[in-house]
Amino acid sequence: MILWTKSKNKKVLKAMEYAQRYLNSEDLKSDILSVKEFSHTTATPKEILEAFLDARARGVKVEIRVSHFGIWKKRVLGSFGSGNYFKLNSYPLAFRVVAEVMGTIVHETGHWVDWLAKLIRFGHGDNSSSGKKMAFPYFIGYAATRWCEREILRDEAALKNKQVAELTAQIIKERMAA
Ligand SMILES: [Zn+2]
Repeated sequence: MILWTKSKNKKVLKAMEYAQRYLNSEDLKSDILSVKEFSHTTATPKEILEAFLDARARGVKVEIRVSHFGIWKKRVLGSFGSGNYFKLNSYPLAFRVVAEVMGTIVHETGHWVDWLAKLIRFGHGDNSSSGKKMAFPYFIGYAATRWCEREILRDEAALKNKQVAELTAQIIKERMAA
């Protein structure tokens, strides 16, 4: 599966990049299979994983659209209807960190894979989120956010190491030249 967007919003692009990495990772598999059963579905974790792997193998594309949801939905960050796209709400987007936006992207991707899957359903019923931690889209969204927080820390540490190494090399070079 391939995420794409026309949006130039830096937070959306960064979150999309992390979401894509997670969706292609082995961690997605182990996160799904770490659960015995999800609520709001009769599908097994293995069947849900197969739906993801099928979407991945087919290289299906899903678009992320950024729009304004209107005054009554100003807290809602993501929304999936049907079709190969889902929406992010521009207003709350400004107040959420990359890892949260990434989790929402993965949550909505979960709805999209559910929509693609022919024989099983794994949504979360109505739009209230309370008591639904183990409904698949919520579970995978939260798991993705935690994964993203770890990856961001790792990326920042790697960048710091690289900068220190470059600085050290520069100092050595200057000393040699002196
Ligand atoms: Zn949802």
